[in-house]
Amino acid sequence: MKALKLAAAALAVGLLATAGQAWAQGKGTIGISMPTKSSARWISDGNSMVKYFQEAGYKTDLQYAEDDIPNQLAQIENMITKDVNVLVIAAIDGTTLTDALRKAAEKKVKIIAYDRLIRGSADVDYYATFDNFQVGVLQASYIEQALGLKDGKGPFNIELFGGSPDDNNAYFFYNGAMSVLQPYIDSGKLKVGSGQMGMDKVSTLRWDGAVAQARMDNLLSAYYASKRVDAVLSPYDGLSIGIISSLKGVGYGTPSQPMPVVTGQDAEVPSVKSILKGEQRQTVFKDTRELAKVTVGMVTALQTGSAPQINDTKTYDNGKKVVPSYLLKPVSVDASNWKAVLIDSGYYKESQFK
Ligand code: BGC
Repeated sequence: MKALKLAAAALAVGLLATAGQAWAQGKGTIGISMPTKSSARWISDGNSMVKYFQEAGYKTDLQYAEDDIPNQLAQIENMITKDVNVLVIAAIDGTTLTDALRKAAEKKVKIIAYDRLIRGSADVDYYATFDNFQVGVLQASYIEQALGLKDGKGPFNIELFGGSPDDNNAYFFYNGAMSVLQPYIDSGKLKVGSGQMGMDKVSTLRWDGAVAQARMDNLLSAYYASKRVDAVLSPYDGLSIGIISSLKGVGYGTPSQPMPVVTGQDAEVPSVKSILKGEQRQTVFKDTRELAKVTVGMVTALQTGSAPQINDTKTYDNGKKVVPSYLLKPVSVDASNWKAVLIDSGYYKESQFK
């Protein structure tokens, strides 16, 4: 009798355990496709998502495509074949995934565009990102304030850099920045020494710092042999570092020839160090932990049949639909607030900057 009871108890425990496992498995696998490991932010994005998805009971399949479009496509197709339940994608080129996403949608896989909008597909369900226009506004407002443009100072010389032309964000950053800078260009208080304006002229393929450095070298030798450049609008820290190397190469960064005001984005460690040295002046911090949380929240809502939280239903038209979005707030960082924003929040450790 005792043995029978024990066996029954063991069976019950076994059943419970199996049920628990089945329940955990039932939550499914999330395919996470990130563009590259060459920039630290995407590594943080990936790590945070794996952590929060796993805490919420999901399995994850995280892949990086090293900025190679066919590679990212193959990774996503593979995830679809392996029956992931949800795809979270930060696209390299947001227009190249349409057919794969169609296949995914036919299999009832939910699709979330992560940070970068996926263009040209009706199958994107939601978009989690930051206020990308505001990123550009923050960069340009920094230049405006640092040069004293609002107080009527000027004229100053500026050069403009844009992000990768296949990344939808790059246009939002540029347009946001120009919403602040254009009036000063129109009034003559800002002069684009090279005359190069518009994303068709100033973009930087694949956000490549070496490409930005080479362009800055050319601009300096062609247009600044006998005048000074006072500001450089740079949309991303990786470009800012290249631009600053180029400037140093021709003697900027000394008391007699101070660095121009160079902006950035992502608060990457080399750029924060550069800010502390007084070279790069500003960056825009986007807390990737928060973006990961928003994304996990969207997935959890979708998987439990409730509506994901969104705060924008107008801005992100991908050519096929306006994708419902959640926009987080970017924060401008310079030497005066870096500690409060980056260290006190636990994003970085102070020892990383010693
Ligand atoms: C992201 C930026 C990043 C850039 C280069 C953009 O899509 O929004 O945070 O600096 O890509 O990786």
